[in-house]
Amino acid sequence: MALPINAYFKGKIVPYSEAKIGILTHGLNYGTAVFAGIRAYWNADHQQLYIFRPYDHYQRFLNSARLLHMDLGETPQSLTQITIDLLRKDDYHQDIYIRPLAYKADEAIGVRLHDLHDEFAIVALPFERYIKNDTSAHVTISSWRRVDDNMIPARGKISGAYVNSAFVKTDAVLAGYDEALVLTQEGHVSEGSAMNVFIVRDGVLITPPVTENILEGIIRRSVMELAQSELNLTVLERPIDRTEVYLCDELFLTGSAAQIVAVTHIDHRPIGNGVMGEITARLRVLFDDAIRARLPGYTKWNTAVYEKV
Ligand code: PMP
Repeated sequence: MALPINAYFKGKIVPYSEAKIGILTHGLNYGTAVFAGIRAYWNADHQQLYIFRPYDHYQRFLNSARLLHMDLGETPQSLTQITIDLLRKDDYHQDIYIRPLAYKADEAIGVRLHDLHDEFAIVALPFERYIKNDTSAHVTISSWRRVDDNMIPARGKISGAYVNSAFVKTDAVLAGYDEALVLTQEGHVSEGSAMNVFIVRDGVLITPPVTENILEGIIRRSVMELAQSELNLTVLERPIDRTEVYLCDELFLTGSAAQIVAVTHIDHRPIGNGVMGEITARLRVLFDDAIRARLPGYTKWNTAVYEKV
């Protein structure tokens, strides 16, 4: 994977190689950090790079920071402007991935959230497909359970909680699957390792509610809106039982890195006909238009990086 060119670090843009932290840094030792994963898409016809929903991502980033007693002194607007400045300096003319990270920066021993100071950094780098097989993925039900809101809140994008996601992902991949669904302590479907989940049953789109220990995904929100407004689908947020997944007609995963991944098999059982379903296919097309600022009515989601010429 290519490294970033520059980094926003300690209040200014510096070469990536100069953005370094000490090994005792609190966030590194205790996972006391929060992050975001944002994409920007190159539109060759417009000769423009569009960041997808940066204000929504940064609102969630600041909310995650708040859960960890962090006050970054920034707003979604100011963080978006820093990102634009960074991307202009990087001068990317291709699809990229943006990684903001806020962390407890003290180089000190002692587990806590208070009496520590916070810093944040932003980098951007070229990024390929997150799930290679995104048109016919095979998933398993993980033997791990999703972290509960009263353990490490999943609605915050908290670095330490991603050890849970890493267990889920690695065990799935080492067992030969593309990805896994992880269940809550109660046994309901929560989400994937780094993506939200949707099923289609009898033409209705269903996704777990935000109280099922999910990250409140920006792509989840976008897909719900596209499905309702553009495909006239009924969208339900309700708990999903494990065996509903075996019986559903379609299943897909959504995330900024993963985008929309069609899942066609679960634990060696075909989902529907065992090929990508029609609703999934239509949503993928709509989504691809939306992220590249080609979908009339949705360009509010696209923030242009470069000045218009
Ligand atoms: N769940 C988890 C655990 C994630 O890490 C992600 C990726 N950020 C998502 C869901 C999807 O969220 P989003 O659509 O905002 O990228």
